[in-house]
Amino acid sequence: MKQEKTQGELLEEKLTYKQKNAWEYSEKEVQQAFELCDEYKTYLDQGKTEREFCSVVERQLVKAGYENLTELMKKGTKLKKGTKVYYINKEKSAVFAVIGQEPLTQGINMVGAHIDSPRLDLKPNPIYEDSGMVLLKTHYYGGIKKYQWVTIPYALHGVVIKADGTKVEICIGEDDKDPVFTITDLLPHLAQEQMKKKATEVIEGESLNILFGSIPLKDDEVKDKIKLNILKLLNEKYGMVEEDFISAELEAVPAYKARDIGLDRSMIGAYGQDDRVCAFTCIKAMLDLPQPKKTALCILTDKEEIGSMGNTGAQSSLLKNFVSKLLYLTVDNYSDILTNQCLENSKMLSADVNAAVDPTYESVNEKLNSSYMGNGIVFQKYTGSRGKYDASDANAEFVAEIRNLFNKEGIIWHLSEMGKVDLGGGGTIAQHVANLGVDVLDCGVPILSMHSPIEISSKIDVYMSYKGMKVFLESK
Ligand code: MN
Ligand code: MN
Repeated sequence: MKQEKTQGELLEEKLTYKQKNAWEYSEKEVQQAFELCDEYKTYLDQGKTEREFCSVVERQLVKAGYENLTELMKKGTKLKKGTKVYYINKEKSAVFAVIGQEPLTQGINMVGAHIDSPRLDLKPNPIYEDSGMVLLKTHYYGGIKKYQWVTIPYALHGVVIKADGTKVEICIGEDDKDPVFTITDLLPHLAQEQMKKKATEVIEGESLNILFGSIPLKDDEVKDKIKLNILKLLNEKYGMVEEDFISAELEAVPAYKARDIGLDRSMIGAYGQDDRVCAFTCIKAMLDLPQPKKTALCILTDKEEIGSMGNTGAQSSLLKNFVSKLLYLTVDNYSDILTNQCLENSKMLSADVNAAVDPTYESVNEKLNSSYMGNGIVFQKYTGSRGKYDASDANAEFVAEIRNLFNKEGIIWHLSEMGKVDLGGGGTIAQHVANLGVDVLDCGVPILSMHSPIEISSKIDVYMSYKGMKVFLESK
């Protein structure tokens, strides 16, 4: 028999804030979460680099009726309500939008994420022969714990621009019949000295050399016979020569596919979920959007892991240029002031992953303000470190708006900081969009083992993130 609630219980219900486990609060949606995540895994497997992810996105957008904005600009085609447009920037970042019913100057509802992930880039001059083997020198990209990146299988993805200007796309190690590559480590028997070193020095940057071959060319007149044999194989398959490595972007990424984790299959383990999990949920929210009242926009950027720099990162003029093109094709007398007016009236959910509490290492978190696996989409009001330094701190008014919207729409959410105050922190693309005058709030999916070769997300959090992005894009 259910007892009547005590006065204390009623007060507790009314006055206290508690995080909710999304699995318990959304039983009916578990099936949808699992289906959504099956699709998510295909995005992860097909888009392991920013370039590949961009092509996956472009294919989906074209299929959904999005039109190439550059083509429309050339023709001067005016954009109507409901027109869907996209712009792919140098094959590494993308912006796309659905024109709303309201004038653009009243603001855009934006979502954004980054599509680059930590990895090992080949150096411009990577190939050398030593001790009966050929190896490739790498330069790691983004913040990694280097010791996690040895003795795992690697695939090589990327492009080579040859001397004649032709571009060759390379992807070795993803097909089950492909060879894979690896980085060796010292055996425990001889690692006494190595094991005394600090974790930052156990594996040094210059030790991240990829094992690439070992058969020599049969000719005693040449010096590096194994290297020459590898160059011969590369030349036969891709028509490239050693100097072509200079104008290449080749990325070594873990060779395995995304898998379910746990006996209950509740989680996903995969390379590159930071931040493709948020990129995916943003894209899906855009694709499933009915005609929005406000213009809805999604930006997917490159180079976040190294500071959002360069002409493909969030610090570039990509977003501003895109918005001014939308205005140019919408109003009769375009002027820059309209772009500024539009941006100042715009709102954004900057979607990036958050560090979920790991029970094995929970001392780095302050439990009142931490994100948890399974507790739904997580807000981060501010990022930064050492006293909020370098943070984009969302305005309380905007946080209130999103919190009320999510509560109304049944989105399970919680709020987090990245670890204890003095322990560290991080940044996202939020600050760069906020600099344009846009109201921005960081939110996304809690992740375990962030920046490792296998990151873990919870399927219900992926689902809540998708649903959150969608109701925000639909909102007035
Ligand atoms: Mn990230
Ligand atoms: Mn990251």
